[in-house]
Amino acid sequence: MQPRAARKTASPLTERLRRLPAVDEILARERLRELADEVGRPLVVVAARQVLAGLRHEIRRGLAGAELESHLTHLAHEVTAEVRELLGHSLRPVINATGVVLHTNLGRAPLGREAARRVFELATQYSNLELDLGRGARGRRDTHAAKFLDRLLGAEASLVVNNNAAAVLLALNTLAGPAGGEVIVSRGELIEIGESFRIPDIMARSGAKLVEVGTTNRTRLADYARALTKQTRLLLRVHPSNFRLVGFTERPALEELVALARRKRLPLVEDLGSGLLTDLSAQGLREEPLAAASLAAGVSLVTFSGDKLLGGPQAGLLAGKKKYVEACRRNPLFRALRVDKMTYAALEATLASYLRGALEEVPALRLIRLTAEEIGRRAEALRAQLAPALAGRAELSVRAGESVVGGGSTPGTALPTQLLVVSPRSLSAAELAARLRRPDASGRPPVIARVEADRVLFDLRTVFEDQQAALAAALGAALHD
Ligand SMILES: *Cc1c(COP(=O)(O)O)cnc(C)c1O
Repeated sequence: MQPRAARKTASPLTERLRRLPAVDEILARERLRELADEVGRPLVVVAARQVLAGLRHEIRRGLAGAELESHLTHLAHEVTAEVRELLGHSLRPVINATGVVLHTNLGRAPLGREAARRVFELATQYSNLELDLGRGARGRRDTHAAKFLDRLLGAEASLVVNNNAAAVLLALNTLAGPAGGEVIVSRGELIEIGESFRIPDIMARSGAKLVEVGTTNRTRLADYARALTKQTRLLLRVHPSNFRLVGFTERPALEELVALARRKRLPLVEDLGSGLLTDLSAQGLREEPLAAASLAAGVSLVTFSGDKLLGGPQAGLLAGKKKYVEACRRNPLFRALRVDKMTYAALEATLASYLRGALEEVPALRLIRLTAEEIGRRAEALRAQLAPALAGRAELSVRAGESVVGGGSTPGTALPTQLLVVSPRSLSAAELAARLRRPDASGRPPVIARVEADRVLFDLRTVFEDQQAALAAALGAALHD
């Protein structure tokens, strides 16, 4: 019930509802006519109907008086805002200030400029995607990128699919799926990555029968040998990407597994996860296997991601012995898992950077190689720039911390960094982080930062230099509200 006084001043419901103009009347306003020219009349009509429906609803719930008048005065503004909301993209750039280089929630590896330029070029024109230019006849899309991959990996053949999960699925389905062939894998390698990739689940879908051997922490070669039957189709090794067993552990050397697989004339498939193409041991990434090293050691087929340490587009790469790669290529599932021309364009450009030894062109590698000193200089400059404007609203400092490679690679390997630490005075760190994530009308990208012990931490390792001004502006705005 409304208080008596309010009821007396409020006009009756029907009268208030009648104050709402008709859609045509709203659309006749100058500002909205211009908007209709820009985005088309139908969209403005939809937006106007939504704004009116919203107001009708509010009036029934008591909206009246000055508040109602204010809405009526600003109708054109509200319709414009609604149109912008309708046209707002769901996927948008963000500034990654977390320091996690391969952040799965933030799109993993950013592409280099040349790779992006190639995507643009191939996406906006026709291409020889499936045309053999020499013969003038139908060609195969899966030859693209293969030349570069074979050379970089020392592989007989290679194949690109949608992601590494697809590569594992395709390999298992091709080599072991028919007639429920058996795949031997160590219990210590039955891993889950993120929430959605469990090796055992993928295997079940591939049609292969999983034969687990050993215990969680120890698996010996003899465990594999004992599990062999007439139905065994392959041995599988999985790089335990996102965790590390320490202490009383045992795992056969790769060479031992290779020898066993050879003796039994079985393929050995290795899911490498990240698939490192270049040595990063100087950066502390000593436990990440090099894809070429696995193949050189005699693994029949390796699979790995395109957008983890390789630093390219989302893709799954299969490489190794020609007969196994060809078998995967002939599997009808390949048709369902294949990639688009834009992926080939980005992947070829990224691989070309490796071939030329131009690793600084691959952003993920460039960011991993940044030193704490370089990052510290930028953090200190940003602190000095912001400190005067934010005095009284927040305390700013720079201190040593750690960045993470991420993407399920190299657990426990942290990269030394320098963090800009912001302690807001009149709001919590969580609230500041939430404000920074909020999209801004001017089109400034949301900023994703770390929150720790009621402080907001910014790791500039993953903030590109041309984003730093936007980051500073976002921080200023978030603390000024
Ligand atoms: C990341 C990862 C996968 C999944 O790769 P996607 O490219 O994300 O599909 C599979 N296996 C291992 C070992 C991984 O690290």
